[in-house]
Amino acid sequence: MTAFATFGDPARFEIAVRWIDDTEPRERRPRNGGWSAGEVRLTIRHQVITRYNRNDTFTDAIAWYLLPLFEWFADNWVALLHEERFAWAENSAAPAAIAASMALRRTIDAEDTAGQETYAAVQGWWSRHALRAADSSALYPDMMIRRLSDDIEISWTARQPSFPPDGYRLALAPGAATLGVKDVAEPLWEALAWVGVNAPTANAEDRASVAALEQKLARLRDVPLSALESGYLATGLAERVASVRTMCGLPDTSTRMQSVPAITKFDDAVLMFGGVRPDLGSADIEALAWFLSSCKGGSEQMALSILVDPGVGAPLTAPFDEGYDLAEALLEQLGLPGDATAIDIRRILSDLGVTVEEIRLQTTTIRGVALAGVDYRPSILLNMTSRYNALPVGQRFTLAHELFHILYDRGRARRLAHVSGAWACPGVEKRANAFAAMLLMPRDLVRRSLPETLITPDAVARAANIMQVSISALVEHLYNIGNIDECERDELREQFRAVKV
Ligand SMILES: [Zn+2]
Repeated sequence: MTAFATFGDPARFEIAVRWIDDTEPRERRPRNGGWSAGEVRLTIRHQVITRYNRNDTFTDAIAWYLLPLFEWFADNWVALLHEERFAWAENSAAPAAIAASMALRRTIDAEDTAGQETYAAVQGWWSRHALRAADSSALYPDMMIRRLSDDIEISWTARQPSFPPDGYRLALAPGAATLGVKDVAEPLWEALAWVGVNAPTANAEDRASVAALEQKLARLRDVPLSALESGYLATGLAERVASVRTMCGLPDTSTRMQSVPAITKFDDAVLMFGGVRPDLGSADIEALAWFLSSCKGGSEQMALSILVDPGVGAPLTAPFDEGYDLAEALLEQLGLPGDATAIDIRRILSDLGVTVEEIRLQTTTIRGVALAGVDYRPSILLNMTSRYNALPVGQRFTLAHELFHILYDRGRARRLAHVSGAWACPGVEKRANAFAAMLLMPRDLVRRSLPETLITPDAVARAANIMQVSISALVEHLYNIGNIDECERDELREQFRAVKV
C-alpha cells in the first residue's frame, strides 16, 4: 500500500489516489487494469463525495481498479471540462446529476424512433459526464462534471449504486458546486500524470495499458484551442463561428491553461454561440457576430457599474426565489415604483446607459441577446421575429430579462455574451424570467392596480393593462406571489385561453 497522492484543494476540488495490495489472484482480476487496485477519494468543498458506510464503519476512499477511471477521464476530457449543453431539450433548472437522470428515466422506454434517438443522445451525454459511466463494476457516487459558462459544475445525487454489497451505503447528501476551471482541471490532469509515473505494473500487457493512457494524454496536450472550443459549441457550429469571427475581425480570445488542455475563459463569440440552436442559419450567425463586434470597445457608466453584482453565481439552488429577491432589491435601490403606474423599463435601461437595438433574425428561437462587461458598450438586441417580442408588453419583459443577465450573469470573467431563448441554459433563463416578472410587477403596483378582493378576469385584464404586462404573465405572477391559489390560477388561465394574450 502506498501513501495517498493528493491533488487540488479540499476546500474546492481534491482528488486523492493510492495503490493498494491486491489479494485476488491475477486470473480473477479484470482483464483491463487488473494491476491497478487502488483507492480514490474525491472531496468537493470539504465534503467527501466518495465516503461510504459499510457495516457501521465509515471509509472515505473507494477501493477498486483505478485504470478504467483514469482512462475515462482521458477519453472524455474535452467534454467533461468544456461541454455544457445537454443533448436533449431540458426544461428544468436542475444541475446535471438530476437533469440527466430524469432525462434517462423519461426516455428509456421510448418506442418510437425519435424517442429512441433522444434516449441514445441522453445516454451518450451521460457516458461523457457521469462518473459511474467510467466503470459500471465500481461503487462510485452518482456524480457528474460539466462546463457551466466559465465554471465547472459538479453535481451529485444520493442515489446508491445498483448492486451494492451487503451493508454498503454511500454516505453523501445530494449537492452541487460551481468551481473554477483551473481548480478542477489541474488536479485531474496531475492525477492522470501520476498514474504513468507510479503505476505498479507487473508485465508487458500492464505496461502497454499505461503507455496507451500516456498516449491519450500526449494527444490531449497538443489538442488545438479550436478543438476545446468545439466541446462547448454544437457540432458543426465551431467552424462556422470561427469563420465569421475572422470576417468581423474578432480575434479568438479564449484563454487556455498553460500546462493543462483546458480553456479557463471562453472567447465571447464562443460563449454567445453556446446558447443558439445547432442549425442556426449563416445569415443569423453573421448578424450576431456583427452585433458583438459593433459593441466592442465601449464602456459602461458608473450608474450601471454600481448595480452589477458578480457574486450572484450560477442558479444551482432556487432560481425562482433568487430572481424575485434580486428584482425587489433593485427596485429599492432605484426607488421604484414610487407613484408610477407601470415600470418604465426602457427608461431604466437608458438611465443605466444600456443601448437597445432591434433585429429581425431568421430564427424565432432567439428572444434577445445581451452584451456587457470589460471593453463592451452594454447592449441588448431584441429579436423582433421571436413571438415573445410581437407585442410591446413582450418586449418589455424581454428587456427586463436581459437586464438581469447584464447585472448578475457576468460570471467569472466579469463579462457577458448571452443569447436568450429556447437553447440557453434553463436555470439561467428561469431566474431571469422571475426577475423580469417581479421588476415589472412589484408587489406595490400589484396591490394598487388589483386590490385582492377584486380578482375577477376583468380586473386582471385591467391591471395588466395598467402595468403594461401581458395578462398571462400577470396571472402566473399572482400565483407565484401568493395572491391567488392554484385553482384560481387555472380558472383564470382557462378564461383567458381564448383571448390569446
Ligand atoms: Zn436569457
